[in-house]
Amino acid sequence: MSNSLVWASSMFILPFGLQSAVSKDKDEEKAYPSYLNLYRDGTLAKRAEELKSIYEDCHLCPRDCRVDRTKGQLGKCRASAKVKISSAFPHFGEEAPLVGRRGSGTIFFSNCGLRCIYCQNYTISIKGQGVEVSDNRLAESMIKLQKMGCHNINLVTPTHYVPNIVNALQMAIPMGLKIPLVYNTGGYESLKTLQLIDGIVDIYLPDFKYMDPEMAAKYSSEAYNYPYYAKIAFKEIYRQVGNLKQDQRGIAVKGLMIRHLVLPNRISGAREVLKFVAEEISKDCYINIMRQYRPEYKARDYPEIARPIKNSEYAEALRWAKEFGLTRLG
Ligand code: SF4
Repeated sequence: MSNSLVWASSMFILPFGLQSAVSKDKDEEKAYPSYLNLYRDGTLAKRAEELKSIYEDCHLCPRDCRVDRTKGQLGKCRASAKVKISSAFPHFGEEAPLVGRRGSGTIFFSNCGLRCIYCQNYTISIKGQGVEVSDNRLAESMIKLQKMGCHNINLVTPTHYVPNIVNALQMAIPMGLKIPLVYNTGGYESLKTLQLIDGIVDIYLPDFKYMDPEMAAKYSSEAYNYPYYAKIAFKEIYRQVGNLKQDQRGIAVKGLMIRHLVLPNRISGAREVLKFVAEEISKDCYINIMRQYRPEYKARDYPEIARPIKNSEYAEALRWAKEFGLTRLG
C-alpha cells in the first residue's frame, strides 16, 4: 500500500508530520481532518443550519447585500441559493504542498463577490459559467475526487456558497470523506463567515490582493473595504490554523498559505502586503508571490495594467519579502 493510501485510510490516525505539530498544540485526541470532530459532536449540523439561514438576508461576505437568495434575489455575486460549479478535477498546477503526487481535488465554483476586472477565470467568476447541482451531488463530487487519490478538496471561490458546502460536507462524511478542505479564496471575507467555518477548514489559501482601498475599488468592483476586511480575515485565519504544517511527504495538512499576485506599477501594494504579513501574521507564514499576471477580461481598458509584470517588478517583491524576514516563499 502506498503512503498516500495509508494516509487516506487512517481517518482517526494523524499523519506523522502532523502528530508532532498537533501534540505541541495539546490536541492529540482530536480527529483529522478537523471537520470530523464537529461532525461527531453535532456542531457541524448546527453550523449548517445557521449558515443556511444567512441566505435569507445574505451577508456571507463584506458586500453585505442583504438579499434573500432563497427567493431568487441576487446580490453582487449574482449567485442564487443553489450551488453552481464549473468543474471538479485533480489539479496539478496548484502549490506543491497541495498537489503532492496525486493532485489537489479542485472544485471551481461559479460566480464571485469580488469581480476583478482582470480575472483570468472571468467566464466562471463573472459570467457565471457552470451548472447548478444539488448539495448531495456536490458531496458525491468530493468523494469522487478522494477516490481518485487527491490529497485534499480544494474549494475555489467558495465564499458565496459556504452554506451549500457545509451542508454537502455533512452528507459527504457518512459517505467516507476523510481528506482536508482547502478554502481557496480571494481574501474578501467577513469575520462571521470565517468563524462559522472554524474547525471545518484545515487549510486556507487566500489571496491578499490589495492594501490600498482606491486600488481595490478601481479593479475589484468598488470593493473599497477590501484591505480593511482582508486584514481582519487574515488574523482570524491565522488564529484558527496557524502556519502551514506538512506531513513527511511535504503535503499540506493544516495552516495558512497566502498568495499575492503582483500587478504592474505596484498596484497590488506588494510591499505593504508583505510588511503586514511579516509584522502582523508571522515571518514563518507560507507565502506564494505570484508573477503570472496577464491582462485578461477588461484589463486592456486600463493602460496601467494592460501588460504582464516586468522581471524587475517581481524581483523587488522578492527583495521586500526577504527584507521583512519572510522565510517561507512558495
Ligand atoms: S455572498 Fe453574494 S449576495 Fe451574499 S453578501 Fe456576498 S456578494 Fe452579496
